[in-house]
Amino acid sequence: MTTRDHLLPVYAPPEEVFVRGEGVWLETDRGERYLDFIAGIAVNALGHAHPKLVSALTDQAGKLWHLSNMFRVAGAERLSAKYCAASFADVVFFTNSGTEAIEGSLKLVRKFHSANGQPERIDIIGFDGSFHGRSYAAINASGNPSYLDGFGPKLPGYIQCKFGDLEAVKAAAEAPTFAGILIEPVQGEGGVRAGSDEFLRGLRKLCDEKGALLVFDEVQCGTGRTGKLWAHEWVGITPDVMALAKGVGGGFPLGAFLATKEAAKGMAFGVHGSTYGGNPLAMAVGEAAFDEISKPEFLEHVRAISSHFGQSLEGLKDRHPELILEVRGKGLLRGLKLSTPPKPLQQAARERKLLVGVAGENVLRFAPPLIVEEGHIAQAIDTLDAVFNAVHAEAAA
Ligand SMILES: *Cc1c(COP(=O)(O)O)cnc(C)c1O
Repeated sequence: MTTRDHLLPVYAPPEEVFVRGEGVWLETDRGERYLDFIAGIAVNALGHAHPKLVSALTDQAGKLWHLSNMFRVAGAERLSAKYCAASFADVVFFTNSGTEAIEGSLKLVRKFHSANGQPERIDIIGFDGSFHGRSYAAINASGNPSYLDGFGPKLPGYIQCKFGDLEAVKAAAEAPTFAGILIEPVQGEGGVRAGSDEFLRGLRKLCDEKGALLVFDEVQCGTGRTGKLWAHEWVGITPDVMALAKGVGGGFPLGAFLATKEAAKGMAFGVHGSTYGGNPLAMAVGEAAFDEISKPEFLEHVRAISSHFGQSLEGLKDRHPELILEVRGKGLLRGLKLSTPPKPLQQAARERKLLVGVAGENVLRFAPPLIVEEGHIAQAIDTLDAVFNAVHAEAAA
């Protein structure tokens, strides 16, 4: 028997031990199968053990693992060109996680103003309910007190506004120190809230007027999760900078930040770096994942299955109106805003072999692999129905 005694107790996982996965399924060491509707927190976009990712990783593993950025990495040159061809961006920096992608994005914003002769412009405007990772910059940008508590004074240059409150952002942007805005077009951890088109367009316009940079954190909502390659495509605007991770590596630790040439003007030789970022193993898997996810027919599948999933969740809400207050999110990043705490329901679903997440205040979160099919959705909805019925029965008893 193994033990958790020597792991820092910052997590509290359930007892089950998963030892293999295939597609939307996970299997425990006892051979029990679970339907996975959280996918490693929106990471396993192509499901578990996708044959193309397995062969990309194992082929590369037999050739070359690591070089560092002292040398040219052919995979990084290819993948960066693919990201740029498919987005607003001209340049890419590869990282190993979402946090590092955010960290680099924020450094880029400040360096941009410094390169423009305005080093005093340091203020990053973020939002309540946001999540950007756990580094000092990321927790300060998010401003969530539970992530900041006990870690020393808040860093200067981070301001929070209410998600959706354009007037508040405009007021904060009046400061001569305003540098940029950091926002998830669809909030993940914060409760699966999609920003309105009007709000996001307002932020774009404001940044243009003020010569500030707009940074989209698409770590969770990007890379096909909403049915478009990038979530901001739904809004018809582009950011100056975008942070990626999670689904972009399909399960291999990979992140990136992308920027226009103009926004990245301060990021010259030597100002930023990473030993592992853009390593050949990550590039091999990242390229295989991107080649699959960026196919028009794949994204078409995500849009079709998303609308089916959305309708099924609305049906569930109609059957349980006292428990489900709202269906939230976009594409295959969905939430049910509940009238009760979601943890007991998450556990009840797990006991019925369905894995789901939680988020924000009383939100049950779903982020199935993008390869999910109608049959899996029917099974998940049946399970959730049974879970909600059990809550009703308990309340009546
Ligand atoms: C998960 C997440 C991050 C942090 O990514 P890590 O890989 O955990 O460092 C940042 N932003 C958003 C929106 C996320 O969901």
